[in-house]
Amino acid sequence: MKTEKKAAPTIIVIFGGTGDLANRKLIPAFYNLYVDGRMADNFAIYGLGRSDYNDESYRETMYDSLKEFSRREPDAEKWETFKKSIFYFKSDITNEKSYAALQKKLVKLDESWGQRANRLFYLSVSPRFIEPVTTNLKDQNLVEKVEKDRIIIEKPFGYDKESAIELNNLLKRTFVEEQIFRIDHYLGKETVQNILAFRFANALFEPLWNRSYIDYVQITVAEKVGVEERGGYYEGSGALRDMIQNHLLQILCMVAMEAPISFDAEEIRNRKVDVLRAIRRIKPEEVSHNAVRGQYSEGWIEGEKVPGYRDENGTDSKSNTETFAALKFFIDNWRWQDVPFYLRTGKRMQEKTSSVTIQFRPVPHSTFKGAQADNIVPNKLTINLQPQMDIRLRFMTKKTGLEMNLNPSEMIFNYDDCATDTPEAYETLLLDAMLGDTTLFMRSDQVEEAWDVIKTVQESWEGRESINFPNYQAGSWGPENAEILVAQQGHVWSVNTKKIDSKKC
Ligand code: NAP
Repeated sequence: MKTEKKAAPTIIVIFGGTGDLANRKLIPAFYNLYVDGRMADNFAIYGLGRSDYNDESYRETMYDSLKEFSRREPDAEKWETFKKSIFYFKSDITNEKSYAALQKKLVKLDESWGQRANRLFYLSVSPRFIEPVTTNLKDQNLVEKVEKDRIIIEKPFGYDKESAIELNNLLKRTFVEEQIFRIDHYLGKETVQNILAFRFANALFEPLWNRSYIDYVQITVAEKVGVEERGGYYEGSGALRDMIQNHLLQILCMVAMEAPISFDAEEIRNRKVDVLRAIRRIKPEEVSHNAVRGQYSEGWIEGEKVPGYRDENGTDSKSNTETFAALKFFIDNWRWQDVPFYLRTGKRMQEKTSSVTIQFRPVPHSTFKGAQADNIVPNKLTINLQPQMDIRLRFMTKKTGLEMNLNPSEMIFNYDDCATDTPEAYETLLLDAMLGDTTLFMRSDQVEEAWDVIKTVQESWEGRESINFPNYQAGSWGPENAEILVAQQGHVWSVNTKKIDSKKC
């Protein structure tokens, strides 16, 4: 039976409706959901900001953004109907009077629709506004209905474990957990969601998915871009906070979690938090052995000279902020004992790529000897998340010819061969939020555990200036110590090793 999700009547309020995220991601995502028939018949989007717009000029600006950022060319006819549901509300979110006025607008809409619609408040603003917004929403009775009213919180969610706990406590003063949607857009990506399908809808891989067959796991999220216009923000963040604490640890959870009994939100989130709890905490004295930080110097990317991090706009000329982080974790449970999980992320890397590598153990005894065995390599499963979207399984085959010589080959599942109109992560996540489905969002305990996992590394790096920054060139694969991190156990980073085109084998 085919089931298609469709949102219930919802009023969406975007705090930060004039900002970068609203322009590039949120409005295009709502538009595409509308084109796909996933928005309710009754819906309204209120963009909120201090900038000087009225409904019409705001709609025009959003149309320009749509043309620039939507995965689909906007259709003139569809836009004409869609835009009637977009409104602008000029206000300062720190001013409590704004909320009374907003409440009046929402009530008026409810009345015209003849029902109390669901309300989705999207906080696309700096985290310092979470407190005034949630307090005012509560005081002005905008979020009275637990089953209908929801809030979406963007990253960063805190800057360490203590601040995340504080933020969770603050949110709990106004909302119950089921109303809170902490967004990590990585979890909305098709390829990331597919990790669960791959693992739990196939009988083939799960029996091998453990320490008996898997040698190590690597997760790489590499970016080619530098900090661009976000130098000021990045200076207070860094690769550990910006990427490892959320995106990479969440991917690790999906790779390492036990099989859930059902696809129920709490069940999935329980299994993920079990992984975070089982990750062995790195002791302060082990940080230098298990974690590597880096910062890029100037270099060349695609034939263009690019500046070093310390010369980017908004950064400190003596900055101690890491733009690269590589960590080795162990998970203390029966399935994964002693299997290293290597996590690596960086800016200004040689290639833009996100991938998971499952490196299997070598065969226990080689039947093939001498020249026959020259090319033998262990099986490897690579899940490429973006921009390349495929799954590759490497296995040994016989080279065609009269001799019994061996060659590695790859079996490839390529998304592009079968996917059309792939939704963007924000579309998936916004639709789920409108439906009240929290499966792909982070629960409070997940966020707090994830901060706990990186706590000692964070404290060590912040408390000790790096003496060798900058220590990798823009356009490279990061500092040499990252190679040593994996080489300590005889391993290599497998991303950037040459891919085999199966058709040519
Ligand atoms: P941004 O471009 O700087 O936008 C900030 C928004 O906040 C603007 O719409 C601004 O509106 C509004 N604002 C600021 N002070 C206000 C006030 N006193 N009253 C009313 N509105 C106010 O920021 P952004 O890049 O969209 O990011 C928003 C949030 O999403 C941040 O927490 C960021 O970390 C997170 N995030 C962003 C991205 C991204 O790709 N941009 C990705 C992941 C997470 P006015 O100037 O019109 O008042």
